[in-house]
Amino acid sequence: MNREYYGKLVFELSRPGRRGYKLPSNHLEGNVEQLPKDLLRQEAPELPEVDELTLVRHYTNMSNNNFGVDTGFYPLGSCTMKYNPKINDEMATLRSMAGLHPKQPVATTQGALEAYYILQRSLSEIGGMAEFTLNPYAGAQGELTGLMVIRAYHESRGDSKRVKVIVPDSAHGTNPASAAVAGLKVVEVKSLPDGTVDVEALRPLLDDTVAAVMMTNPNTVGIFEYNIPEIAKIVHEAGALMYYDGANLNPMLGKARPGDMGFDVMHINLHKTFSTPHGGGGPGAGPVGVRAGLEKFLPNPRVVRQDDGSYKLVYDKDSLGQVSCFLGNFAVELRALSYILSLGAEGLMLAGSLATLNANYIKEALRDLYLLPIDRVCKHEFVFDGLIDKSTGVTTLNIAKRLLDHGFHAPTIYFPLLFHESLMIEPTETESRETLDEFIAVMRDIAREAKDTPEIVKEAPHNTPIRKPDDTQAALNPVVTYKDLKA
Ligand SMILES: *Cc1c(COP(=O)(O)O)cnc(C)c1O
Repeated sequence: MNREYYGKLVFELSRPGRRGYKLPSNHLEGNVEQLPKDLLRQEAPELPEVDELTLVRHYTNMSNNNFGVDTGFYPLGSCTMKYNPKINDEMATLRSMAGLHPKQPVATTQGALEAYYILQRSLSEIGGMAEFTLNPYAGAQGELTGLMVIRAYHESRGDSKRVKVIVPDSAHGTNPASAAVAGLKVVEVKSLPDGTVDVEALRPLLDDTVAAVMMTNPNTVGIFEYNIPEIAKIVHEAGALMYYDGANLNPMLGKARPGDMGFDVMHINLHKTFSTPHGGGGPGAGPVGVRAGLEKFLPNPRVVRQDDGSYKLVYDKDSLGQVSCFLGNFAVELRALSYILSLGAEGLMLAGSLATLNANYIKEALRDLYLLPIDRVCKHEFVFDGLIDKSTGVTTLNIAKRLLDHGFHAPTIYFPLLFHESLMIEPTETESRETLDEFIAVMRDIAREAKDTPEIVKEAPHNTPIRKPDDTQAALNPVVTYKDLKA
């Protein structure tokens, strides 16, 4: 990249008096004195002054520094970062959909409501649930919504003693956080060495103060929780409900349904399993499904199909209320629907199987060099505990950084917390055999380098635009505006 633009903020390219755009005049000009004084700016804002070409080059060069699933292999574990087929974007940006106003009369939005309804039904079928709300904006908000449903259910039976939520030690951090935000107390249950929840440790924790048990299946180490039927039985006997964190639904698609396993409430991360883009933290959607009998507690509004085939918005009086504006992230929902309809039932089932096959393929090809703490057939992802040979001092962080030199995104590192040197790999279903083989070859090269020339790995990355930022300082004192930089 040209030095003139490289690593510079647009403010640093600014020169007084340059300009690339002029606002059209508007009818408010000359009427400024009619605006309330205390709302008027006292000084002009500090904006960069650049010509159009400088601006275009600035953003184009910056976008070239970005890495995404459209650029290369992105093997993050836990957060499914799958390819987002372009047909989904096409559907979401159709003028007839993107141009709608949420306050339009429902008589004029029947097509959009029908799409919404079909997605509610499709997710219910995939999850084995009676009904879904699409309103929550993310998995974490889905968890909160689901726990609010569970609270509303217990309260509706006059059972107010249930203030605890049991969460496995392998759980994603959002599980205990959501429970706390829902006003519930978190109790941890430990896992067995094989990564699954310890049923014998769970048993004594279950009593009439437990509202729910939250589980992820396959769990965050990519292992199928084969004891779910037994767990669901003892949880239900104790009067509590089963919550399914659907972030890892991908390998289950068309194979196994949370509803059939005994879960009562679940969420799905559309931006994971259903391929809607979620770079940079958003936007997402975390629809929540419930088994029969819990529908009335779901958030308002829901879309219902009437006998004459038309659709309407329903506000239930027993509902826990509204958790998002209007109907949630509609464009994300449309992308998910497009993905489901373009793959169909067979395609979805194949996606889950291929995700599982690809993960096991990489695991088996590297297990002679990388430490495999849980030696079982995995689902869509698995965890290495760093290199087998610890004598070189090469850490998981070093390996992750060295991968960047080879044009791969790093896997998830130091999560889950069950192991010291966690390196969590999820290839997803869409990667070709060639890409998987190339990744395996590079991982084998890095293991060899760690032995022969460990300094090369420890000092990586060597050829990325930015080499080694100070992670601690970046977290403690983030510089996020031009003013912070100048300060
Ligand atoms: C991603 C994830 C979540 C949280 O979902 P968000 O959509 O990021 O809020 C919860 N649990 C697990 C296991 C996850 O991987």
